[in-house]
Amino acid sequence: MNIAVLSGKGGTGKTFISTNLANTIPNSTYLDCDVEEPNGRIFFNAKDEMKTETVYRMIPSIDKDKCNGCRACTEFCQFSALAFFGDSPMLFPEVCHSCGGCEKVCPTGAITEVKSSVGIVEVNKVADLKIVSGLLNIGEASSIPVINRVLSEIENTSIIDCPPGSACSTMESIKKADYCVLVTEPTIFGLHNLKMIVELVQLFKIPFGFVINKVEDPNNTMIEDYVKTLGKEVLIKVPFTKEIANKVASGMLISDSDSDLRDLFKSLLNKITEEIS
Ligand code: SF4
Ligand code: SF4
Repeated sequence: MNIAVLSGKGGTGKTFISTNLANTIPNSTYLDCDVEEPNGRIFFNAKDEMKTETVYRMIPSIDKDKCNGCRACTEFCQFSALAFFGDSPMLFPEVCHSCGGCEKVCPTGAITEVKSSVGIVEVNKVADLKIVSGLLNIGEASSIPVINRVLSEIENTSIIDCPPGSACSTMESIKKADYCVLVTEPTIFGLHNLKMIVELVQLFKIPFGFVINKVEDPNNTMIEDYVKTLGKEVLIKVPFTKEIANKVASGMLISDSDSDLRDLFKSLLNKITEEIS
C-alpha cells in the first residue's frame, strides 16, 4: 500500500504527519519527494547512507563542426532552450525539457544527447524503516527525474512525503499512490489551499481523507464543515501544544515519546486501511 501525504501549502505539518505515520508502521518505507527541501530524514536520525546515487537527465550537445546552420532545431524547440548565435545554436540547459526533439530534427547528426546531473537520491535504513530522500540540485527547473527515482524505491507499506502545493511535482509524487492523506491546518489559508489539493486528487481519482494538524480551538469547525460538504469525516485531528512544537523543532519524532499520539497515528493507518480494503 502506498500512502501519499499532501498539503496545499508549506508549514502545515506534512512532514510531521508523514514521518510519524511511517514510524508507527513496521517494515515501512518513507519516501521524501519534497526534493527541493527534503528534511524528513532528520527526524529519523539517519546518518550513514546505505546508497547515494546521482540522478541524470538527457540534454542536447551540439557539434558545431557538423552544424550547417539550418535552424531546424531552434524552430522545433517550443521552450526557447535553443537560440542562434553566430552560425550555430546555443543551448540554455535550465529551460530545456529534455524532450529529445531537436536531436530528431537535426539533419546532419550535429546534436547528440548527453547526461546532465539534476540531483541525488539517498537511501538509509534505521531499524526496520527504509528512508529514501531526493535532493534536487540548486537552480534545476524540473524535479521530476529525481521524484521518479525516489518513487522507484517503493516497497512494503510506503509513505510518500509530497512537495507542498498542487503543481506538477505534486502530481508526479501521487501517481503511484493508493490513498492520499490531505494535511491542513484550521485557518482560512489552510482551507483555501486544501480545496486546491482536493481538486487535484479528485482529478486523479485517488481515494483520499483529511488530517487536521495544529488544532488549538475545539470550537473551530471550519475544516470539518468543509469536509462534511464532501460527504466525508476527518481521519484524525492532531493538537497544537508547546511540547509537540518543541520536540518537532528539536528534530524528534513525537510518536517515539508520546504514547497517545503514537496510538493516534496507528489509528490513522487503520482508518486508511479500512477505507481502501
Ligand atoms: S531537448 Fe527539447 S526542450 Fe531541450 S533543447 Fe531540444 S527541443 Fe528544446
Ligand atoms: S538542426 Fe542541426 S544542423 Fe540545423 S542548426 Fe540545429 S544543430 Fe545545426
